[in-house]
Formats: sequence, C-alpha cells, structure tokens
Amino acid sequence: MLSPAFVTRLRALLPPDAVLFEREDVVPFESDGLSAYRNTPDVVALPETEAQVAAVLRLCHAEQVAVVARGAGTGLAAGALPVDGAVLLVLAKLNRIKAIDPLARTAVVEPGVRNLAISEAAAPHGLYYAPDPSSQIACSIGGNVAENSGGVHCLKYGLTVHNVLKLRALTIAGEVLELGSDALDAPGYDLLALLTGSEGMLAVITEVTVKLLPRPERAQVVLAAFDDVARAGAAVGDIIAAGVIPAGLEMMDRLAIEAAEAFVHAGYPLAEALLLVEVDGVNEEVSDDIATVRQVLKAAGATEIRTAEDDAQRAKFWAGRKAAFPAVGRLAPDYYCMDGTIPRSQLPHVLTRIAAMSAEYGLAVANVFHAGDGNLHPLILFDANRPGELEKAETFGGRILELCVEVGGTITGEHGVGVEKIKQMCAQFASPELQRFHDVKAAFDPGRLLNPGKAVPELHRCAEWGAMHVSAGRLPHPELPRF
Ligand SMILES: Cc1cc2nc3c(=O)[nH]c(=O)nc-3n(C[C@H](O)[C@H](O)[C@H](O)COP(=O)(O)OP(=O)(O)OC[C@H]3O[C@@H](n4cnc5c(N)ncnc54)[C@H](O)[C@@H]3O)c2cc1C
Repeated sequence: MLSPAFVTRLRALLPPDAVLFEREDVVPFESDGLSAYRNTPDVVALPETEAQVAAVLRLCHAEQVAVVARGAGTGLAAGALPVDGAVLLVLAKLNRIKAIDPLARTAVVEPGVRNLAISEAAAPHGLYYAPDPSSQIACSIGGNVAENSGGVHCLKYGLTVHNVLKLRALTIAGEVLELGSDALDAPGYDLLALLTGSEGMLAVITEVTVKLLPRPERAQVVLAAFDDVARAGAAVGDIIAAGVIPAGLEMMDRLAIEAAEAFVHAGYPLAEALLLVEVDGVNEEVSDDIATVRQVLKAAGATEIRTAEDDAQRAKFWAGRKAAFPAVGRLAPDYYCMDGTIPRSQLPHVLTRIAAMSAEYGLAVANVFHAGDGNLHPLILFDANRPGELEKAETFGGRILELCVEVGGTITGEHGVGVEKIKQMCAQFASPELQRFHDVKAAFDPGRLLNPGKAVPELHRCAEWGAMHVSAGRLPHPELPRF
C-alpha cells in the first residue's frame, strides 16, 4: 500500500481531482480489455501535461515507487493491469493534436489522442493514419506505440513501428528522450524501434510524430465463401503469391460468420469460411488486382465470390467483420481472445490443429483474424461461472500460442505480452535472449520501477515452466526449453 504521505505529495504535483484514491474512483481502472485479470489500483494519477508526468515520475523515482502507464485501457494482454503499491499513470488527458503538416504528411500528437482522431483530423487534407486496430475508436496512440499495434490495413501499410517517425518519452527519472528523426535514417542505436512495443517498461511516451498517407483513389473489396477452412487458408497464400498485396485480407470461420450475421445482418453466405480481400490504389491498379484476386479465389475452390460494387456494399461486407468480436461475445458468457502469428503457409495446418484442440478441451472456438499477416485471433468461448473453465480456456490458449512457435511463428501478433502471455515467452526465447531483454530494461530503468512483472519473465520462472511441460509430456525433449 502507498503511504498517505506519498499520496499527499503526489496530489501536490497535479491539479485538483487528478489523483484518485477512493475505492469507488479507482475500481474502474482495475483491468484493461482482458478483464479476467483484475487488481484494484492503490492510486490513479491523471496528469494533463508532460511537465506533470515528469513531476510524477521524479517523485516515484525518488521514493522508489513503481509506475504503470495506461492509455485508454483497451489492451488485451493485461499490460496496463495495476500492480500493488504502484501509481497507475493514466495518459488519457494528454489528448491534444499539436500539429498537422500536410506537406510533410506528418502529425504531432500527445499520447492520449485516440487512433481514429488522428485520421479524422487529417481528413480535410485528404490524408489518414494507416494502422487501424479494430479498437481504433477508443485506443490511444501512446498505447498503440507501446504495443506496436496492428490492424486490418497493416498487411500493406505496416505496423505502428513502420508509421512512427519520432517519439518524446520520459525515463523513470523524468529525463526527456527525443528519439527518431524527420529524415530517412538517424545515427545511433534505433531506440525509436526499441521503445515501440516496449509495453510501458522502458519509458513513458509523451509525444508521437506519425506519418500520414494520402487517401487511396479507390478501394474495393471481394468476399469469397469456402466449404473448407483449410482451403480458405491456402487461398490466402495464393493471393499474395500471385503478386497482389491486399490492403486487408481477413478470414472468418463458420461460428464467427453465423455470429456476425445474426448480429449485424451483413448478408454473408453461410459457409465454413469467408475471406474478405480489399485492394486499394489508383483506379487501373485496383481493377487489375480485383481481376487477379477473383481468378485466384476461383482456382482455390471458392464456392461463391462477390465484389462490392459501391461504397455502401463495401461497408456492408466489412460490417460483419468489424462487429465479429462483439457478435461472438453474444454466444457465451465469456470469451478469451488469443493473438499469435504464424507463417501464412501454415494456416491450413494450424486451423486444423486448433479445431482438434477445441474438441479435446470441449470449448468452442470462433476464428476471426488478419489472415494476410498470419495473425490469428482464435476466440475461445467459455463460462467463468463454471468451476475450472477459465483455467481450461487459459491452458487451451497457451497451447495455441505454443503451436504458433512450433510452426515458426510468434506468441503475439499485435496485442503484446503483458501478463497474459508471459509464460509463453519461455517457449519463444532461450535464456541468453531473455537475459538481453533484462539488460535492456536495466539500462533504462535500473530500479525496475516501470510496469514491473510484465512482458519479460524471470529466468527461474522459465525453468519451472519448462519442467512442468516436460512432466506433462508436452515437451518430448528436456533440452527443448533451452534453459
Ligand atoms: C475490441 C478490441 C479490438 C482490438 N483490436 C486490435 C487490433 O486490431 N489490433 C491491435 O493491435 N490491437 C487491438 N486491440 C488491443 C488494444 O486496443 C491495443 O493494444 C491498443 O494499442 C491499446 O491501446 P490503449 O491506449 O488502450 O493502451 P492500454 O491498454 O492502456 O495500455 C497498453 C500498454 O501500453 C502501455 N502504455 C499505454 N500508454 C503508454 C504511454 N503513453 N507510454 C508508455 N506506455 C504506455 C501500458 O503500460 C500497457 O502496457 C483491440 C482491443 C479491443 C478491446
């Protein structure tokens, strides 16, 4: 627990009402979007300026109090989960768009600005910010940088790391770091890339300069139905092999299609799998790509292919995909959204293995995901009120992530590691790599005060994890966990 004297000193640094400590005020901050993990924060600080953030950090550093940064709290890996005895530092009130430069095609924004608000502000100049997490109406750009977030359009336009030019960030001691450059390259280590995806563990981001792109002249989407999930998975690779890089390439399986259809009536054909393939660019390029995509889908065995003829139809095709998460949420009291990435060529194999595991655990799974990136989002349905079901869903989810590693992929595509996937970091990395992560952390934050206990496991925890997996028969060779 933080002492009343500390809270008094914290309150003196911030405007009235910017420090919350009464239980009813802090409970809304007890979890992020992964509500299965909860912890009531001791104290919540809501600064409004970078100077106030620096003052809070300096106090915490002097008193050796831990700090958990939080943006909009939409994270799905418990990255912003409060830690006992720590200050929860909410950046949501730093929400000013400081500048938009239509000639340089950049925007300078504070970390609490919502992702979609950047594109809205850039729209009068015919520009937009490309990375588009499905949570973009709510999530903050600071959170996007901390998680290196992706979205539907990242297959063609890259993740957050490819769309950020500069960052201002504060160390735990309150020092300002200015990273990146307006130029194509910058000397020195690439600390901008290092901070992107660092999950609030190295520094607190206080300003982001993003790239803006011109709105494409035309965008068109093709919908294709398949009577076999593995065949749809194979078609994904075929499209890219044919030389088309779609702006978005999404897949839904039968359960997800049925849920979305019942929820938003998008007019989807009932099938085992649907692909949505969007291409954008100049007029002629889009026409050529649509023709190629249709040809590939036909050859891959699609049972039905539809092309949206206008923007209204395009929006309708996307409506089901965009509402798929809440739609699946209506099927069961709870669902657990996984996030792993695999090489595209492994999609048919991995989807078949997930279906087999679903039968083994007796828990239904709906698949809705960024197929073009090989970024899976299996949604495991369960009922936390039934004893043992949450644990079963967690074990099942863990095995999906380990399967991703087994086929050459990674345990996260875009949601980060947080608390949720910390054990699976042991499947992804060997001890020399994990040790380097700890060394980097120590270089920025020697007292381990920023978001402690998240994202990078202690080596002894990995040794325990490896031993458990060997005894459960899931790691046939004791040397596999490599500790
Ligand atoms: C319905 C739904 C759909 C989603 N779809 C996607 C998707 O398509 N793609 C995707 O990538 N994600 C998706 N997400 C996950 C989530 O929206 C992203 O991870 C997002 O980037 C989190 O932003 P946030 O502002 O909510 O961050 P928070 O959840 O508040 O924090 C996330 C992490 O960032 C750190 N952090 C936050 N702000 C700062 C800062 N200023 N400085 C340093 N560290 C900071 C926190 O400590 C924490 O570790 C989805 C979530 C939901 C609920």
